[in-house]
Amino acid sequence: MDLSLCLQSLQTTDENIFKDKTVTILGLGGVGSRVASMLVRHGINVRLIDKERFYEREFPRQSLFREEDISKFKAKQAKKLLEQLDSNAIIKTFHEELTKDNAFLLKSDVIVDTTNSPKITAISNEYAQQEQVAYISSNCAGMTATMLTYIPGKVGGCANCAGDAHNVGTIKKNGMFSPLSDLMAGLVGSQILHYLAGKEVNNQLISVNLEPYNITSTKVESIKGCPVCSP
Ligand SMILES: [Zn+2]
Repeated sequence: MDLSLCLQSLQTTDENIFKDKTVTILGLGGVGSRVASMLVRHGINVRLIDKERFYEREFPRQSLFREEDISKFKAKQAKKLLEQLDSNAIIKTFHEELTKDNAFLLKSDVIVDTTNSPKITAISNEYAQQEQVAYISSNCAGMTATMLTYIPGKVGGCANCAGDAHNVGTIKKNGMFSPLSDLMAGLVGSQILHYLAGKEVNNQLISVNLEPYNITSTKVESIKGCPVCSP
């Protein structure tokens, strides 16, 4: 796999920069599955957690799954399709819902939460803090999306501190504008590659609204008394 152009853009010549790195992705929706294929194309190992099937209504925002994958379990199909992208890729999939009892499944260099589920965000945010793992959480619904990057031990607050500013509502209520998924996958992927390459990452809360077009970046402070990240 020739990563030369990517390495050039990151201003490094270290060809092994992503070797043996593992990223856990929670949720194989439009953002999660796009990020998974991006990482596999960079030689990064992935751990994928999703218990759902692929529904036809998700088709417009999916870049990984095909027509014949409709109604099949996402985790199983994703492994098959990603292995076709790179036969050397190390892909572990877990057909499970994340709970506090199986949070150990998140063990990796970076945890990415794309579930849009406050419950799963809370569990994964807490695990990231406990294990001091870089954490990226992205929510998307309708025309709005957010992305929070939290690096434990560095400046900034966790997903609990971001609170309602990280909430965009549900896809059930607001629908989902397909191009927004790809945009957010690009932002999440950029954060991951920068972090793994030892570069500075934006650890603020990014909020995107495509109607009207608006992208903002807000500092998230660690709230005094936060049960997760407060020292
Ligand atoms: Zn916090």
